[in-house]
Formats: sequence, C-alpha cells, structure tokens
Amino acid sequence: MPNLASLFLKLLTLGCQHSSSKTLERKVIQVNLGVMVSATTILTFDFLFYLTGNGALIYSGLIQTPFLLLLPTVWWLNHTGRLFLARWAIFIIVISDTTSTLLLAQGTQLLIHYYFLLFAIIPAAFFEISQWRSSAILFITNLSLYFFFQLNGWEALPEIYELQAQQLNLLRVIMVGSSVFTIILLLLISERYSERNEIFLEKLANTDPLTSLNNRRHFIDNVQQQLAKKLDQNLALAIIDIDHFKQINDTGGHDAGDEALKHISQILSKHVGEKELLARIGGEEFAILYIESTAELATKKGDALLRQFENTPFYYFEKEYKITASIGLCLFTGQQDLDQVMREADEALYQAKEGGRNRQKIKKIA
Ligand code: GH3
Ligand code: MG
Ligand code: MG
Repeated sequence: MPNLASLFLKLLTLGCQHSSSKTLERKVIQVNLGVMVSATTILTFDFLFYLTGNGALIYSGLIQTPFLLLLPTVWWLNHTGRLFLARWAIFIIVISDTTSTLLLAQGTQLLIHYYFLLFAIIPAAFFEISQWRSSAILFITNLSLYFFFQLNGWEALPEIYELQAQQLNLLRVIMVGSSVFTIILLLLISERYSERNEIFLEKLANTDPLTSLNNRRHFIDNVQQQLAKKLDQNLALAIIDIDHFKQINDTGGHDAGDEALKHISQILSKHVGEKELLARIGGEEFAILYIESTAELATKKGDALLRQFENTPFYYFEKEYKITASIGLCLFTGQQDLDQVMREADEALYQAKEGGRNRQKIKKIA
C-alpha cells in the first residue's frame, strides 16, 4: 500500500523538477492529475458499457483504447521537461478521443459533447498567463465543438437507440456528472495547493532564517495588533542584547557566532510562555512582549533569564564561551504607540550596558 501511494505521488509530481515556481509546479501536477482522471473516466465507462451488453456501446469504449494508451506520453513529456508540449498533448488526446467516440459510435445520444465544455474551461488553469493564446485557441475550439453538436446533434450507431430510457438517462447523468466532478477536483487541488503555498510563504516572510524565531517585522505587526485592541492592559516589552557578542565572532569566527545565536534562541524559546511573543529583532538583539505582566513579574522573569544565560555556557569545538545579556524593559499599559515603547526599552537597555552589563533596567510609562 505505501508503494502504491508513493507511485501515485511520483506520477503526480513528474516534471515538477523542471518548474521554476510553485505556480508552475501546481500546473504540472494538474496536468499529471488530468491524465489520471482521463484514464479513470475511460476505463469506468468501458466497464459501464460492458455491463449494458450493448454492442455499439462496447465498440465505442474500444475506440478509445489507442487514446488511453497515448495518455502516458503526457507524463513522459512532463518528465523530460517539455511542459508546454505536455499541456497541448493532453488536450489533443482527450479532444480526439471524445470526437472519435462521438462521430463513430455514440453520436450525441449520451451527451458526450458536454466534455467539450470541460475542455474549454480547463486550459485557463493548465496554461500559464503568458501562454494565453493556447488557452484562447482551446477555449474557442471546444466551445464551437460543443455548440455545433448541441445544435445539430449527431446520429449514433443504430444499436444505441435500443438502450432502455432508464439506462440512457443514467449514462447521461454519469457523463455530465463526471465533467462537473473533474472541474471540482481540479478546483479543490488548486485551492489546496495555493493555501499551502500561502501559509509557507507567510511563514517564510515572518521567520528569521538563522534561528527560526519570529523576525522584527512579524514582532512589530503582532505588538501593533495587541495595541490596536485599545485595552487597558499590563504589558511589558523587553529588549535583550547579548554582551560583547563581537568577541565570540572574533575568537571563534562567524560560524561560532551563528551557532551561539541558535544556542541563545533555544534558551529564549524555553523561557517564554505560550502567550508571550519572542523575536530576533536585530543581529544579536531579541525582544519579548509579556502580556498581563506586573513590574514585579516582569523583573522576576528578566532576572531568571539572565541567570539562565549565565548558567548555560555555549560550546563550540570544545571551547567554552560564557554568555551574558543586558535587558531593557519597558512597562506600559497598551495605550501608547509602539515607537515610544521601543525608545524607552532601548534607553533602559543603554542604561543596563552603562551600568556594567549582565543586568536589566526598567522604565515605566503610565
Ligand atoms: P555590547 O552589546 O555588549 O556593547 O557588545 P557587542 O559586541 O555585542 O556589540 P555590537 O552590537 O557592537 O556587536 C554586535 C555584533 O554581532 C556585531 C556583528 O558582527 C555581530 N552579528 C550580528 N548579526 C550576526 C549574525 O547573524 N551572525 C554572527 N555571527 N554575528 C552577528
Ligand atoms: Mg551586544
Ligand atoms: Mg547589539
């Protein structure tokens, strides 16, 4: 079973390695899925036709065999990087398949010409915006084919008129239903894929790549949201700057500095609670927003953090680096603007550095 799932995934993503963007990747996946849906539809109808025992219908199923066998060439074209050709190939195959079956056996009796409506809509999703000419050609061709057969009708093989009304109706419903189902399936895949990409991109835009903490932009956005609530709340913003960080870079090299930043981030992540917001807002500068925090609580937490840094030295290639930090803490009520709060916290940080480092200073704005 896992092998079947991995084969399905492999077929679905054939050619994705040639896609330069997530959007192109989605289109390649849609085309590959189109091959699967087309093959499944043909085989399902072959089976249904066999069940009816109607010779002409069985013949109309057999006519589609060469097209069924041609479908995997679409996968091959995608796999070999000919993405544009693959898109055209799938449409040529399914349009030829439908037209042959209609002209040679089914006529318009089973409403197979409704597939032309499906083939008119889908190119807009399969082709890129810059390839709009292809979409337009396929749209006009398929729409014309639909209208032509809808208005003129086409005679089926005589045996097909022997089908019972109930059987005919059921086959028609399945035929039209399968077109609608295909459109819904492609829409769902597209939506799901876009949603996943947006979440991924949002995360990328909000995260610091080195430490995986929130970045400055995300931190500021979140604090602004908190302030926008205009609640009278007890908030505290701490700016944490590592002491003499340059020395780590100077002694152990830039890589040692990078590893030290990850080590510091881990200590900070363990320190913050679920409701608190942590971010890397600069090189070796971090910020925490404490919510519902009194002066006493925030001071206690700051002291605990300073001790935690002291007691957790950082090791790089067996060399020990002592780490300390200075904290500027600003207590505020949520009625102030963020610039003012950041300025006050910065000022407190400056005082902590001036006062000898490895300590915190507190400012309060009413
Ligand atoms: P203090 O804050 O105690 O005054 O001293 P400091 O040495 O920490 O001061 P400063 O802010 O001047 O130096 C910060 C250093 O952090 C400078 C910069 O090279 C280093 N730094 C900033 N970002 C990174 C980074 O992503 N990786 C590494 N390895 N170093 C960084
Ligand atoms: Mg520093
Ligand atoms: Mg600094």
